[in-house]
This record gives sequence, C-alpha cells and structure tokens, in this order.
Amino acid sequence: MTNSYTSLSQIKSDIAAGGITVEKLVKGYLNKISANAHLNAFNEVFDNEALASAKKVDSRIQDGTAGKLAGMVIAIKDNICYKGHKVTASSKILENFTSVYSSTIVERLLAQDAVIIGRCNCDEFAMGASNENSFFGPVKNYSDESRVPGGSSGGSAVAVQAGMCHAAIGTDTGGSVRQPASFCGLIGLKPTYGRISRHGIIAYASSFDQVGPITRSIEDAALLYEVMAGPDEYDSTLANVEVESYNSKAKTTVSPKKIAYLQEAISSPGVNGEVKNNLVDYIEKLRAEGHTVKPIAFELLDYLVPAYYILAMAEASSNLSRYDGVHMGYRSPAAVDPVSTYKNSRSEGFGKEVKRRIMLGTFVLSAGYYDAYFAKAQKVRRMIREKTDAILKEYDFILIPTAPEPAFAIGKVEKDPVVTYLADIFTVQASLTGAPAISLPTGNNSKGLPLGLQLLTRHFGEQELLNFSKYFLEL
Ligand code: GLN
Repeated sequence: MTNSYTSLSQIKSDIAAGGITVEKLVKGYLNKISANAHLNAFNEVFDNEALASAKKVDSRIQDGTAGKLAGMVIAIKDNICYKGHKVTASSKILENFTSVYSSTIVERLLAQDAVIIGRCNCDEFAMGASNENSFFGPVKNYSDESRVPGGSSGGSAVAVQAGMCHAAIGTDTGGSVRQPASFCGLIGLKPTYGRISRHGIIAYASSFDQVGPITRSIEDAALLYEVMAGPDEYDSTLANVEVESYNSKAKTTVSPKKIAYLQEAISSPGVNGEVKNNLVDYIEKLRAEGHTVKPIAFELLDYLVPAYYILAMAEASSNLSRYDGVHMGYRSPAAVDPVSTYKNSRSEGFGKEVKRRIMLGTFVLSAGYYDAYFAKAQKVRRMIREKTDAILKEYDFILIPTAPEPAFAIGKVEKDPVVTYLADIFTVQASLTGAPAISLPTGNNSKGLPLGLQLLTRHFGEQELLNFSKYFLEL
C-alpha cells in the first residue's frame, strides 16, 4: 500500500478523501521496515515517536493548520543531527553520540510537518560509493539483494526503494545522493553549493558537502528542496539567492533546449555497454523532440577524480581531527594520557577507509607536499569550474550517466582503491564546480537493475533543472 504512492500530492488527496491517515501510513512503513530489516537500511527506527508525531499531524490536518509536508514520512541519513537522537555517521567513533541540537534542515522539515521515521545507514563519514564502508555493515539493494545500493547515502535510497518511507534526505559530497538514487531507480537531487544549510550536518569535505532529497517524483524533490533551501544564519556559505518555487510545465511548453553530452561517456571502454545505450536512447529521444543535442570533449575529464579526492581528503583530515577521544565519541579503554588517548581512540574508532583518507589528506596538506598536491588541485578545480561554466553558457544542460556501471556485487572489493574512486567520474564534476545536478531513473538493464542519467545545469538553476527533469522523465 505505502509503496504505491509516487508523490505527496497523491497521499494528500487520499487523506482528504478519508482513505488514509498519516498514522496508518506510518504503521504501513513500520511493517515494511520490519519485513525488510535484513536490507540493513536503518541504523535506528524512531517507531513510537513517528507514530506519536503522525497522530499530531493528523489532528493538524483536521484543524486545517498542517504544514506543506503533512503526510510526508521521511528517513534521514545518519550524518544529519536531530536533537536528542543518536547520530553516528555509521562510525564506531560516534556509536553512542547523541545530537545536542538539530540541523537547520531537520528543523525546517519538522516545521512543515514531515514525520521522521528513522536514521539511515551510510558509508562511514559519507566516504564511499557502495555503503560497504559502514561500521554497521553493508546495505542490500532491494532490486537484487546480492548487490550494493550505492553510497554513501545507500540506506536512505533503499529505505525509499523498498517502501519503508516516502522519501529520504541524504548528503552529496561527490555523488552520494545521485549515485545511490541511480542504483535504486530513484530521483536524487544535489542542489547548488550554497543553497541548503550544512548546519548540523556531520562534515566530510566542507567545500563540497550538500544536502539533497531522494524521491520517487520530481514534485517531491522540488518540495523538499524548497523547504530546506535558503539562507541560514548558521551557515555563512549560503547564497542570498531567491529560492523560486517549482512550477511544473506541461511537456508541450518546454522550449527547445541546447544539451551537451560527454563524448567520452559513449566512447570510453570504461563505461558499461547498457549504460552507453541508455544514454544514446535518450539523446535520440531528445533530438526527436526538437532539442539540439551535441557531443562535447571535456579535456579535463582525467583530472576530475584526482582533484576531487585530493581536496576532499584534505578537508576530511581537517574536519575529522575533532574526533580525538576527548571532546566527544569513543574513547579507547587503553587511554592513559593525552597521546595514548588520541592514538588509541582514533585507531580503534575509525574504519579502514576513513583512516586511509585522513592519512592521505594529511599528506597532501603537509609542508613539503602542499604546493604539489593541495594547491595544485585547487588550481585544477578552478579550471574545471571555468570550463564547465563556459559549456553551460553555451548549453542549457549537460547530460551524462550518473555512474559508469549499474549496481555492482556486494563484496566485489577492489584491491586498488583508485579503481573504486574512478567510479565517481561522472558525479564529481558538479561537486567540484558547485553546480546543481540531478540523477533521473531511466529504466532497467537486461538484469533488471536500475539505470540513471544525470543532468547538470548553471548555478542556482534548480527550477529549470527540475522542470526539465519532469519533462525528461516523460520522454
Ligand atoms: N564516493 C565519493 C567519496 O567517497 C562521494 C561520497 C559522497 O558524496 N559523500 O568521496
């Protein structure tokens, strides 16, 4: 029953017609959560609390005082602070940590009567693209339980995919909303950097981190985005640019667009054949509708992943220095003095991938290597931004796959982490440049695994992006 709703407006009309209540909806989701507990999508379910909030929302609906999100039952990634609730970033180092305040986005969602049903599993500190780097174990893809859901917001994506909630909120530093959405057949939006407050989001790489919704419909993505976006006194990186409200345009009213696609996405041997065919299909559909769709060569393509990882790791090494066994979180039983407290708590509290990134990040920031790595990567980032902006001056959108292959097998561990990092090739461009990007579900491959394509546009062009996405999904 809960699985059949694709948008909040359907839920709202059922509520108005007396067919359902928010309390009944929550009960339905809780049943799905227990039936699918083996997928490991949740680190914690707020069952009693969600039922109690649902009852309150039901009475506000009766009184006519309910907010915009009344009827929306959501899950949040476990790196988003919610006062009085645990928040772990799926790390042992924060296993027993309770948020002392709520993130701005949680406050905004609750103020509009969303019900939060639980916190979702993710890669530790959002570092990963398969959800296998979680202290709480991997998450399984609902389409094929032997496969990963993507990451790092893998639990959030599966929670929506398996009907355990209506929508979910993830974070996207280098693709963590878009890539799991694509692996799970859902919509994942990464807004422009500077659109949504990062206050109360556990930091991974602060110049990239952005919150985004994972949904089944564009309307819901737009609504959640609108509720969360906009200036916040606690995050000085937010732009004072008006958050226009989404207005769905009928297919016939979309004017002809200029769309660029990456030639390498079709010519590169590293991209899966069915992913290429999917892109080609959509290029043809768009051309048939009268849009101009042209290949472009992005000569900085090979620099995207190295620049992203140098900068993200550098920022992570700095952000994660606060977990020292003193201020908060895990303290090693072997701690006897300051040095043993730091060393043992961090060695025992962080997982392998997080430690690798802290070490690499510290290395690229160290005196002898700063110019060669960190400073150079910043210059490369600037070039990538300029080149991308130039393309988006000429074209309305860039169309690329979200990931080079569909969901891969759990445990397909690469010996070389660089091979794993390269799989982020198509998502990190928007992260490096700060541009908004969306992953859209574009069918399944021959094994029934979801495929996704991504659209990127100009900074603060979310309204255009969402409108065009709605049209794109109807092609
Ligand atoms: N896979 C990328 C990384 O590991 C992106 C993760 C993210 O967006 N949080 O850094």
